Amino acid sequence: MGLLFGSFLNVVIARVPAGESIVRPRSRCPRCGHQIAWYENIPILSWLALRGRCRACGQPISWRYPLIELLTALLFLACQRRFGWSPELVSALVLVLVLVPLSFIDLEHWILPHELTWPGIAAGVALSAPLGMERVRDSIIGAVAGFLVFWGMEWLGEKIFKKEALGAGDKDLLALIGAFLTWKPLLAVIFLSSLQGAVVGSLLLLFRGRAGPAPEPETPTAPPPATTPGAETLPVGEPGPAPEQAGPERADEDEEDDWVPGPTNIPFGPWLSLAALEVMLLGPWLREVLPVPLDLLLTGAR
Ligand SMILES: [Zn+2]
Repeated sequence: MGLLFGSFLNVVIARVPAGESIVRPRSRCPRCGHQIAWYENIPILSWLALRGRCRACGQPISWRYPLIELLTALLFLACQRRFGWSPELVSALVLVLVLVPLSFIDLEHWILPHELTWPGIAAGVALSAPLGMERVRDSIIGAVAGFLVFWGMEWLGEKIFKKEALGAGDKDLLALIGAFLTWKPLLAVIFLSSLQGAVVGSLLLLFRGRAGPAPEPETPTAPPPATTPGAETLPVGEPGPAPEQAGPERADEDEEDDWVPGPTNIPFGPWLSLAALEVMLLGPWLREVLPVPLDLLLTGAR
């Protein structure tokens, strides 16, 4: 089931940002328009059998397709192992079905389309109904709290740093996570996503000269000293770093809307999604490993 749903998520990822229907036209090769037959569309197996190439034109088919199928299948399996055959499993699987496409769309286009986030918030609240009224209440509080926390941070960021620290869709994504997981683990999700984003951002900064997820406040101050030594250590023949020299020019103009992500920048949405899945799937394990006060703070466990 995870493989089949993963195959469908590939369609969602390709079509939703383009504003296209996810049901109507049958899948075609984006390069030659060859209509894809059912036997060319079997998760993972077809991609392997075709050796990653379109049968008609021979152009490569992205490895993202089998990757998303495999990832969705593994996450489905992990959810089943975590929740068993329970009503909570349904909610967990639907969360996977929303977070996987949102993450890959955000990585590619730097948007979190509300065509996915808003119905997702509604689904999160609705799917908590079989788990009891208390859960519905906590789910609604989670959605509102998630939205307000990032709305407040955005407002503060604009007032204090005079810059956009979070994408507009991040509020909706945290509201969605709150609707599915309730308000209790929201602090853990924010903490884990920021921590992991900062660690990977720092590593990219170290190895690629300049990087970082958008919300890192140290990013604007870090590049100036890093540009010169960073440029020297970069591998020769790497075309990536050239656009990064646009940094200083950007600073003079002081505009935010025309901001273009650098080649190594990562949006925040995938980090939030990753943290939500970690808290959902590894929650009991985290509770055992972490010292009690930290565990209370992070997982909201009673
Ligand atoms: Zn083709």
